[in-house]
Amino acid sequence: MGKKRGNKKGPAAAAATNQNLKYFESDLFQCDYSPICGRFLKAKVDIKKGTLILKEKPLVAGPKVLSTALCVGCHADTLKTPAKSKCTKCGWPMCTSRCEDSPFHKLDCRLFREKKIDHPAEIISTDYGAIGILRGLLLKLYQPQEWKVFSSLEHNNEIRKKLPIWLENEKYVGKVIREKWGLSETFSEEEVYSACGVYEVNGFEIGDFSKFGAIFPKASMIAHDCIPNAAHYVNEDDSTLEIHALLDIPAGTNITMCYDCSLKGTNVRQRTLFKTKYFTCKCTRCMSPTELGSNFSTLICTANNCKKGQLLKKTEDDEGIWKCSRCPFTMTDEAVDKLLGKYQATVNKSLPNVKAQEEFLQECKSVFHPNHYIPLEVKFNLCMAYGRENGYKLHELSQQEAYRKLELCHEVLKALDLLTPGMTVVRGNILYELQAAEVLICRNLLESGKCSKALIKRRVQNALKTLVEAIQIFEICDPMKMLAENAKATTLIELKGWLNSLK
Ligand SMILES: [Zn+2]
Ligand SMILES: [Zn+2]
Ligand SMILES: [Zn+2]
Ligand SMILES: [Zn+2]
Repeated sequence: MGKKRGNKKGPAAAAATNQNLKYFESDLFQCDYSPICGRFLKAKVDIKKGTLILKEKPLVAGPKVLSTALCVGCHADTLKTPAKSKCTKCGWPMCTSRCEDSPFHKLDCRLFREKKIDHPAEIISTDYGAIGILRGLLLKLYQPQEWKVFSSLEHNNEIRKKLPIWLENEKYVGKVIREKWGLSETFSEEEVYSACGVYEVNGFEIGDFSKFGAIFPKASMIAHDCIPNAAHYVNEDDSTLEIHALLDIPAGTNITMCYDCSLKGTNVRQRTLFKTKYFTCKCTRCMSPTELGSNFSTLICTANNCKKGQLLKKTEDDEGIWKCSRCPFTMTDEAVDKLLGKYQATVNKSLPNVKAQEEFLQECKSVFHPNHYIPLEVKFNLCMAYGRENGYKLHELSQQEAYRKLELCHEVLKALDLLTPGMTVVRGNILYELQAAEVLICRNLLESGKCSKALIKRRVQNALKTLVEAIQIFEICDPMKMLAENAKATTLIELKGWLNSLK
């Protein structure tokens, strides 16, 4: 996932103050500027949760740096499905003649034709990875208005200059564009590196499997917060980006997104943000050792005679020492990272089924607070697995397993309420699973005759409300729209029918 900027003190910040901020405005929001955080979007009016705040087409889009062998129209991997066609205008490889109409290829097609630049002779070549950056640069030649916007975006060259990424840019982009393709007179070194930075800092990943990068200038003005009030979805059909309000956003409030990993602990979030966006987040969640009381990063003390205390890192402690609340035991940041990495690897790779995940949760008890993000991720997976996995399909669940699914859903929801409140997809998913568990439990209770019909009816009414809330969330999120339709056509009707029969 990719998004945007860090601290804005470079030349782009100076340009930004002069830049007409009106370009970035709409009826719902305005663009403001501060010397510390640069440009950001602020609600002009009260925005209700669920509102579509912004729908934006990419200014430019193209392959990511280091991409190899692809169709220059649709960016499909031509190693997997060899290109059968060539662009009739520039001769570069394409899957089919239809890819020639891709709006993304327009500018480079023109340049390749005008300057007689041929595609790489080798089938696998990382030169394809320079096309995305080239497309940004070509705005300077062919679309000066758009170039003004593109070149005003933050590139963080000052920070990037000192990082390995700079050399990578030089080797795989600078040399290709300026030397191989002979454009050193057309684009200065500074312009090429800045374009690389604009993609790195502001780019969103789109396409199947996030294969290519795109610049959405307005969306890239949205500031980061680890408890965001908005979220983005890409409509894969037309590559447009949609931003929705997760919460009610009162007029005058900054619109915020979490660029990455809102469901990871502070250590991981901070490292990812610095690595990909070159800034250190200082939001209220990052500044709170307990992550606002959620204990999302809290460890359990493993000292032999303790095993009860909670291990926390004071964020103002620059030495990165984790201290036990009950004994003198401490851990370094490095040791904590190693521990987290080990457990995360198990979650990612070696928990194939419900049984393995439940056992892992038991193992986690001596190391992590129950609300820690690692066991919580497993709990989230279990919410889905109970009811879907072979041997644990909904009709196969015992009443005890149904209660377990319900319990897990409540635990995950509680953490979400604290850390990512509002209409997030994760919340939609959990609400959906929660109502499924609740309905199953109620059906079993009715059958057993152990519970009064009036009580069951009340529980089913609540489950119906939960389902409606889940559907409302799915409806605003493009990739989930089909699920919303299906739920409305089947689950919702069934549930309403059952409720009516419970009279
Ligand atoms: Zn194609
Ligand atoms: Zn072409
Ligand atoms: Zn933060
Ligand atoms: Zn201790």
